[in-house]
Amino acid sequence: MRRPRPPWIGAIGGTAYDIGLVVYAVLTHLACSMCGKTYDWRQLNNTCTCGKPLLAQYDLSPDTLDREALKYRDCTMWRYREVMPACEAISLGEGMTPLHHSPRLGERWYVKDEGVNPTASFKARGMSAAVSMAKHLGVQVLAAPSAGNAAGAMSAYAAKAGLEAHVFMPRDTPRAFVIECEYLGAHVNLIDGLINVCGAEVRKFIDSSPEPVFDLSTLKEPYRAEGKKTMGYELAEQMEWELPDVIVYPTGGGTGLVGMWKAFEEMERLGWIGSKRPKMVSVQAEGCAPIVTAFNQGKRFAEEFPNAHTSASGLRVPKAIADFMMLDLIRASCGTALTVTDEEMIAATREMSSKTGVFAAPEGGATLAAAKRLRDSGYIQPSDRIVLFNTGSGLKYLEALGAQ
Ligand SMILES: *Cc1c(COP(=O)(O)O)cnc(C)c1O
Ligand SMILES: [Zn+2]
Repeated sequence: MRRPRPPWIGAIGGTAYDIGLVVYAVLTHLACSMCGKTYDWRQLNNTCTCGKPLLAQYDLSPDTLDREALKYRDCTMWRYREVMPACEAISLGEGMTPLHHSPRLGERWYVKDEGVNPTASFKARGMSAAVSMAKHLGVQVLAAPSAGNAAGAMSAYAAKAGLEAHVFMPRDTPRAFVIECEYLGAHVNLIDGLINVCGAEVRKFIDSSPEPVFDLSTLKEPYRAEGKKTMGYELAEQMEWELPDVIVYPTGGGTGLVGMWKAFEEMERLGWIGSKRPKMVSVQAEGCAPIVTAFNQGKRFAEEFPNAHTSASGLRVPKAIADFMMLDLIRASCGTALTVTDEEMIAATREMSSKTGVFAAPEGGATLAAAKRLRDSGYIQPSDRIVLFNTGSGLKYLEALGAQ
């Protein structure tokens, strides 16, 4: 039997995209991804006391939402609002990105183009959800470390919400990201060190700030993953509720993989899909491959990757808090993890762009380089439906792409 709707659940609506619609979410609580400890979503939370990520939990059943209702919804990720944070959406029109059939790459190959999101990457999804919820819970000041795209996205949603944003990026982050954040009104801090050093700077900043500052680091707050999971919902909807055989995803902090996997579980509980899952393939750069290394060694946790370097800035994540979540789901899906060199990645970015019409980011190119290798090895079969994620736009990476 369906539980009655708890009285605290708030109405969502009022974005320019869904004027007149008032709907209800079924968010119930937050739960630790490792120890299962639960938390009240009405309070601000970062990680569990055990240090691991918290994930949003919902009261889901086939009564929650009839997927037919989606046909009449606005074309943003908030079309799935019943399975989203319970707050008013701060939206710039993120999500419902095109899924391009790309037969010039492979017969049943598709490219999901996340580069058309606001701020030109899938990070917009996560930040739309996280900034919406932070604002709902009374936050005034936000901070996050970023390899580039997350900073741009946080700056944009903070600007729309009227919140103060402090971003911490490596000094050699491509110029486009730095200029974007400045124009969007964020306080930009350039740090000598990679994203994990930037993360430490964020904590110092929070500790020394006289006013409360909320940390929006990847998977150190529960809602960025909620935004990113909508990629999984969209894939299912766009493929008429038949998930692909293989998803190839360029992996950094892991919210994309973790979020989509969560979406598949939720959709099964909603009665929208069965128990079959795509093989989840993680692609990393040869110069920064902590997850691939741990995968190959049969480990559940990844060591920090030494001397991390790659021109795909989204993949420059030497240590990820969600390592075990990624490694668990890759294995559970019979997926795999592999590296590509920067040279292969840039060449494949050119190939993806010139054969699909999508000016891809190097991270997107990495998925093509990896998929071609998996096709040659027989892991990918000609009959398989393959989705490559182009996670950002090539326009932000002109230095790296123009150098080759
Ligand atoms: C952040 C980022 C990634 C890595 O994504 P995760 O989901 O954090 O693993 C990949 N590509 C681009 C363009 C990014 O900005
Ligand atoms: Zn815990």
